[in-house]
Amino acid sequence: MFPRLPRAFARKFHKTENKKERTIQGQFLIPVPAGSVISDSYPTRVTHGQVMLAHNGKKVLAPVNGVASLTPDQKYFQIKQDGSWSTTSPYHFRQYDFPALLESFDEGALYSLDLMEIPLKDYFQKFGKDSSFKIVLSPFCRYQHLNFEEMILRDMKDAYLSFYELLKSIFPKAEVSNFFEVTSLDFKHPNGIPEFFLHKQFHEPVEKTRKSLIGHEVLFLGAETIFHILRKLYYNEPFTKRHLAVFLVDRKGRMDLEPRQFFLTNGQALAFIPANLDKRYKIASFETVFEEVKPMDVGSLGYFNIYEHYSITLYEKLPAARKEFSCIDCMECNNYCPTHANPVQLIKGKVEEFEKSQCISCGICTVYCPSGIDIRKRIEGVVV
Ligand code: SF4
Ligand code: SF4
Repeated sequence: MFPRLPRAFARKFHKTENKKERTIQGQFLIPVPAGSVISDSYPTRVTHGQVMLAHNGKKVLAPVNGVASLTPDQKYFQIKQDGSWSTTSPYHFRQYDFPALLESFDEGALYSLDLMEIPLKDYFQKFGKDSSFKIVLSPFCRYQHLNFEEMILRDMKDAYLSFYELLKSIFPKAEVSNFFEVTSLDFKHPNGIPEFFLHKQFHEPVEKTRKSLIGHEVLFLGAETIFHILRKLYYNEPFTKRHLAVFLVDRKGRMDLEPRQFFLTNGQALAFIPANLDKRYKIASFETVFEEVKPMDVGSLGYFNIYEHYSITLYEKLPAARKEFSCIDCMECNNYCPTHANPVQLIKGKVEEFEKSQCISCGICTVYCPSGIDIRKRIEGVVV
């Protein structure tokens, strides 16, 4: 039912007697949220989806069946996996009312993957059952370049239709705008950024769409968030796995998206990804080209964190450090800026002429600047 696992990863599977049950042998490392109080019951046996810790409305779930302990510095849960769990949960229709929906979000530790750091339970609670507001279902994701709309429509269509009806029944006065299956929509960065998506689809200024998100006039659900909602509501799968897009950059600087899908378990070691690729990649970064790249040795990739990681870029050789040259007035930054925020003025020293309320921090101006000027840094200085 779910996207096929990557070949490299599938090879590590060991099938047990029951063909529906599979095991992955290994250690999983999950950070303990700062400031949380840890019970002294560790080491202890845990089962997949069990709450290991709840702190400030956030939960740490056991990603596998096994024995969980704490690292000596108490900064990580270390889970030694020793059991198995079903990887083929069937679709199971279930009726939800609002309290049951919130409870399910909470139980599955679901987060909005479009608006940072918001548990879905808290997010949905901002919207009254009987209030009028807009619900927007976007086929794109804020952080992901993978096609979740296609995955959902191909593998989870019944669940998607059930959820759509559920939203309408729980929020009868809300206006639902569903942009799935709109063939004229193509993904291109920054279409996944919620305020930009709303700006494009509803022809409203970015400032207004940003306010509508902050002020909870719009309940925004991107495709990756919807994917995990469907998994929890109709397949009973908690948020313990997430897709990781893998970008590959060769010696000449050409970038490709690795075609295999990596649907990884929280806390899983990432070293197997570069180890199973044909070319030798030496350098890695968790940032995309639109962000400030912080390269590291592939040996330091560490463990997958579903709350922070959504892509990695692997380089055959260290990307050349950007050298800044003088602005040549080519105006490429302004031409490519999707919101006409006038970023060139930041370089000209006319900060007040930069339309900071229009800026969605997409990083495009920096990527296209032929002089290698880090406009993104200048923006950070003015956008609080
Ligand atoms: S100024 Fe740069 S970062 Fe801001 S929206 Fe325009 S292109 Fe994106
Ligand atoms: S793209 Fe770079 S060089 Fe061209 S006008 Fe903008 S800041 Fe200047």
